[in-house]
Amino acid sequence: MPQVHDFGNNVFGVTGLHHIAGIGVNAGFILASDTVIHIDSGMTITDGEYLLSKSKEKATQQENVLLILTHHHSDHIFGMRIFKEVDAEVIAHENVRKFLSHRRLFSFRTLLDSYKPFIVKMMVEKLSYTKERAERELGDVKLFPPDQTFKDDKTLQMDDQELLLLYTPGHVPSETSVYHPISKTLFAGDTIYQDMPLTTRFGGPKEWKQWIESLEKLERLDIENIVPGHGKICKKDEIRRNIEYLEDFLSR
Ligand SMILES: [Zn+2]
Repeated sequence: MPQVHDFGNNVFGVTGLHHIAGIGVNAGFILASDTVIHIDSGMTITDGEYLLSKSKEKATQQENVLLILTHHHSDHIFGMRIFKEVDAEVIAHENVRKFLSHRRLFSFRTLLDSYKPFIVKMMVEKLSYTKERAERELGDVKLFPPDQTFKDDKTLQMDDQELLLLYTPGHVPSETSVYHPISKTLFAGDTIYQDMPLTTRFGGPKEWKQWIESLEKLERLDIENIVPGHGKICKKDEIRRNIEYLEDFLSR
C-alpha cells in the first residue's frame, strides 16, 4: 500500500507505489501557491491517478500542474498520461528527451507494446496479481517527451516555491535529484536506494564513479529527509551507505 508522508511546508513524499520487482517505487509532490509540482508519476496508470488524487486532496486553489521526471525509467514515468490529461507541463533533463524524443517516439511506442506484457507477467509473478488485475492496474500507458528540459543544475522558481534540480548522473545519464531548501527535503530518484542493493547494470566503472561524485554533491546539502527512488524515507547517512556500496562494487 502506498503511503503519503507530510514533511511540512506543503512538501509530501509518497512511498510504496507499484513496482514489478516488488520493491516499491517512490514519488512526491509540493504545493506552490498556484501550481501542484509532482515529482515522478509511478509505474502504472493506477498510481498516476493515485498521486494526482492525493495532491488534489491537499490542494485548495492550485490550478496548474507541473511534473518533474527524475529520469526516464518506466517505474518513474509510466503514470505520466494522467498528468498530461490535466495539461501538466513536464520538465526533465535533456537526456530524458533524448530517450523519449519525437524522432524515437514511434519506435519507443512499438517497444512499449512489447514491454507491457512483460510488466503484466512480472506483476503476476512478483505481486501475485491475476492477469486481469495486473492489466487493469498498469492501464493504458502513453509516453510523452518533456515540454521543458535543462542541461546543468537548475533553480526552479514556481510561484512561492523554490526548487533545485540537480543533475546527478550515474544510475543513468538522465538522472536528476530535486531539492527543496526550505523543508530540507531531497527527492533523490534512483541516485539513492534505501537499504537495498543499487541498480548498477545500466553503466560501467565510469558511470559508477560519476554516481559517487553525484552522491558527494548531494552530501554537501543540508538535508532533513530523503525520498529515495526505492525504499523508505531516510536520513542523510543513507548517502554514505550508497557511496560505500559503489566504492566496494568498484573495488571488486
Ligand atoms: Zn527506479
